[in-house]
This record gives sequence, C-alpha cells and structure tokens, in this order.
Amino acid sequence: MSFDDLKLIAPIRKALKTQGYTVPTLIQEQAIPPLLEGRDLIGCAQTGTGKTAAFAVPILQLLAEELRNPKAPKTIKALIVTPTRELAIQIDDSFTAYGQYLGLKNTVIFGGVPQKAQTDTLTAGVDILVATPGRLLDLINQKYVSLRHVSFFVLDEADRMLDMGFINDVKKIISYLPKTRQTLLFSATMPMEITKLVNSITVNPVRVAVTPVSSTVDIVEQGVYFVGKKDKKHLLIHLLKDEAIASALVFSRTKHGANKIIKDLAGAGVQAAAIHGNKSQGARQLALNNFKAKKTRVLVATDIAARGIDVEELSHVINYDLPNIPETYVHRIGRTGRAGLGGVALSFCDTEEKPYLKDIEKLIAKKIPVIEDHPYPLMETEPADNKEAAKKAPVGKPGSVGYFRRNIKR
Ligand code: AMP
Repeated sequence: MSFDDLKLIAPIRKALKTQGYTVPTLIQEQAIPPLLEGRDLIGCAQTGTGKTAAFAVPILQLLAEELRNPKAPKTIKALIVTPTRELAIQIDDSFTAYGQYLGLKNTVIFGGVPQKAQTDTLTAGVDILVATPGRLLDLINQKYVSLRHVSFFVLDEADRMLDMGFINDVKKIISYLPKTRQTLLFSATMPMEITKLVNSITVNPVRVAVTPVSSTVDIVEQGVYFVGKKDKKHLLIHLLKDEAIASALVFSRTKHGANKIIKDLAGAGVQAAAIHGNKSQGARQLALNNFKAKKTRVLVATDIAARGIDVEELSHVINYDLPNIPETYVHRIGRTGRAGLGGVALSFCDTEEKPYLKDIEKLIAKKIPVIEDHPYPLMETEPADNKEAAKKAPVGKPGSVGYFRRNIKR
C-alpha cells in the first residue's frame, strides 16, 4: 500500500515525501482511513510504530478541508494530550512537518518552563494544541486556553498517564471538552482503568493494534554481557571504541548513576551527555538536540527522561543497568529499531541482576544471546541455559561482539 491509496490530499503527500516516507507503516494503514471517515479510534501501539503520523495526518487533512477561510480567527480545534515534555515537543514537530504546506497553526505547551512564550502564542491563535496535562490545566484555569471548539481529541500514551499519576488531570481535561468530537486514544497496554476510560469517552471506536511487545523485540538484535558491577565502566569504554556504534543511548537506573557514567566516560576521553529529571528543561533539550544532530555520540539517560526520545538512526541501546521491571527493557530497546528498522541492544548484567535478566527473558519469551568474548568476564559460572542461547546466536562467531557489527541499514 502507498500513501496515494490512503486518499491523502496533495499538500500532505508532498510533506510526507519531504520526510522521506514512502510507504505507510501498519498503524498508518489501519488508522488513517477510519479516522478520515470521522470514527473514534483506540490504538494499541507504542512509540516507534509511526503512530504520531497515524493520528496527525488525518487530523491535519480534516482540519485543512474544514478551514474554508484561513483568515478566520483561530481557535483550538485539535487537542493532543501526552504525558511528557519530550513527547509533546516531538508530536508538535510532527504536526509542523506533516502540515508544512497547509497553513494551519500548531503549538506545544508543557510545564517546567516560564509560560510567557506559550501564552503569547496561544493568544495569537492556534488550530492545534499539543500539551502535557499539568500545564494545560494551569492555562485553562488562567483562561489562556479554551477547549470549547475542540473537535479532535487525542489522548496519547494513556497507560503512562496512569503510571505517572496524571489520570485525574486527564479526566478533568476531558470534562472541559465538547461532547461532540472525534476521540482517539493510544495506549501500549490496556489496564482496567484505561479500559473504563475508553468506554466512557469513545463512541463505537475502531480498534487497531500493532507492534505488540514481541515484534519490537524481534527486530532488535540483542546481546548480554555478564560483567562485574565494577567492570561495567571499563566494558562500556571498551565497547565505545568500536566505531560501528554510531550513536548510543546508555540507560542507567538512577540519575546519580547517569552522572557517574558521564564522569567515567569523560575520564576516558569519550564525550557524552546526560539527560535526566534533575537537569533543567533547557539542558535536557540541548543534550537531546545535540544527540539528534549527531554532535554527541553517546547520551546517558534514565528511564523517565528517555520516554519519548525519538531519534532516527539510533544504532545502539546499551543497558548499563538492567531494569528490575521487565517491560522497561522492552521500552528501552524500542528506542532503536524504529519504524521497522533494525538496531542493536546490548545489556550489562552483574551477579545481582541475573534475576532481572530471567524476568526479561520470560517476558520476551526468548533467551538473549550471551556475548562471552570480552575483556571483563564475570568471574563465576554462567547459567547453562544462557550458554545454550549463545551457541544459537544466528550470525557470525557465536556470541562475539563482531556479531553485532553487521552493517545495519541506517
Ligand atoms: P512514532 O511511532 O510516531 O514515534 O514514529 C516513529 C518514527 O518513525 C519517527 O521517527 C517517524 O519519523 C518515523 N516514521 C513514521 N512514519 C513513517 C513512514 N511511513 N515511513 C518511514 N518512517 C516513518
């Protein structure tokens, strides 16, 4: 299927071409036609599936068709609520990119920064507003935002809203929306609370589900190094000597750990930047922009800060610490392998983390091949079943780092 088959208007097709998109992703194929017909939609999809375009494109098209007089006063007609600043910025950037030939105005609001620039833009008038829940409610209360004219409402990453304690804010926001509207809800998982919400806010929705946890797992090449806690930094420095690692997102369980990694890398002459909650919004954005622009090769992040990091051509994810929640592993490795492209995820596992590895392998229903060929092996016997997995490593010398040096098309 091509974008032409989706009955998109010429300015949008042109914008997608500018982005280098040639064929729609699965969720775009499934979601765009019913959305253009005005249906509500429940999308079970993670970031990385192309879901932003799946909702942004039809909204832009319907708004562009509706916008008979581009000079008429601008009111917010589409509202997208998403849990994090990074995601909000990314979604707003997507609207800008896909809508660049349409003359619609979009903007983004989020907390942690002064509100003046945001309220100035809102006062000048926007058609599409992307927001995080707290700042949105704040600006509604201050009367900078009115939701009276909203005809498209997107609730993004609904399950994370729940995890992050935003669900009551979300319910409050929904209470300000007109009853007649098109509603879209995206969630990677559907906990009870979200199912209840879905039933109360959508009417006869189309359901689309793509890239279940396992398929992200399948397209990303994975490997685990058994390594002592103290040797992790040496192993990281050793691995980063390999130029095949074009860009690496290194995950640390804690902010303190992230700072420590940066320090260790700096000591070895490896430039890296950290992104975590303790950094100011400006510092985080700068670190992210430098990483995206390939000025920084290594970005060290905590799980919360990494939410919504969307970097095309991210070749490697390195789990410096294994997460104790197995789903987090899947979210982490989903940072690479975007839109069906391959990627490599390498994990460091010390003695204490072995139970976490077991939980992860249970969740993804496969053994992660063990990479034995490295200078800092853990001085104890490894579990026999992981050795078996190493033997089954599909290409190259089983378990060797070279196995991961395959030319990934990026
Ligand atoms: P998302 O799931 O919306 O965060 O999108 C994941 C990544 O896929 C983003 O970097 C998009 O720019 C990219 N993308 C979205 N749709 C397509 C497409 N049809 N072809 C190629 N890349 C795409």
